[in-house]
Amino acid sequence: MTPSQPTRRPTDAAYGDRETEYPTELLNLPWIDVHNHAHTLSWDDRERYALAGCRAMVMVASGYHWTPYKPVRAADVRYLWDDAINRRPAIERDHFVEAKLGLGIHTGVRIENPDELLGAMGDYLELEEVVAVGETGVTPSQHVSRWELDEQRAVVEAQMELAADHDLPVILHTPNQSRDSGRSYRPELGTPGYEKNPGLGQDPVIDGENPALEAVKIDVEAARDAGLAEERVVASHADLDNTAYLMEETDCYLSYTIGHSWLIGVDAEDVADAIEAYGPDRIMVDTDCANVLRTDPFALKRAILELYRYGIDPEAIRTVVLENPRQVFGIGG
Ligand SMILES: [Zn+2]
Repeated sequence: MTPSQPTRRPTDAAYGDRETEYPTELLNLPWIDVHNHAHTLSWDDRERYALAGCRAMVMVASGYHWTPYKPVRAADVRYLWDDAINRRPAIERDHFVEAKLGLGIHTGVRIENPDELLGAMGDYLELEEVVAVGETGVTPSQHVSRWELDEQRAVVEAQMELAADHDLPVILHTPNQSRDSGRSYRPELGTPGYEKNPGLGQDPVIDGENPALEAVKIDVEAARDAGLAEERVVASHADLDNTAYLMEETDCYLSYTIGHSWLIGVDAEDVADAIEAYGPDRIMVDTDCANVLRTDPFALKRAILELYRYGIDPEAIRTVVLENPRQVFGIGG
């Protein structure tokens, strides 16, 4: 206690701080977002990434959300790839963040002629700015039109073969188990904060008790069949449902999506638990920020501070948000 406190009576401050060392290095720690759709965000949102210290990002151009026509044709997806390639240099120029691309075929909606895309993809993967294949991975149920499991799996496996040939990592879209909040929204309204025509979800193509986990296992098997090393697979949207399997039975990386925790229920606390249980060496964090969702470009920076508060040491945090992405995607150096 300082003897000469000028306050009229002792305040909390007079008892001294219990913690005197703060991790100031985290305030300036650069970080890498390995999965977002920042090219669909506003200029201001992208500026928020820069303001929060983002060093590099992988902008994923493979989502069916942005194709107006359903079912989707190869040319619609190709347009998404070309649009991202077109706009990427301006995004880097405006925000100084290294913005690279992930290109892939998402299976959230059936594509009528996927072979055309697979045929074109090799040339795209030669581009210096393309650092990943994805996001992809089998999806238990589609939007608008079902895509049979064996056809989906073939498309996923073919992309993994291409990734192996071009020595690129694959970003997996792992499905999440929906949170049971006890109440559902009116079916005609769907989920507020997620732009999607709510009546168009199709019956699942994967049965069983846990289709979300089943889908991840099918993806890992496809990687093995494609000759893609498991450490070249980054399972994005990792969650409590798939963490034990991915950590204990595979060599895949796990990337926890924390940019829309309100939707998938994963936040910094879950990441801290995973780091504590398995160590930081195969863990990353991503935002998945996109214009069709209520998402937060500051989410990853917030998670850095939250992880420390939850007891994770700064060295492990650095491994998760910077070193692992650097090593796997070869960016942000
Ligand atoms: Zn995504």
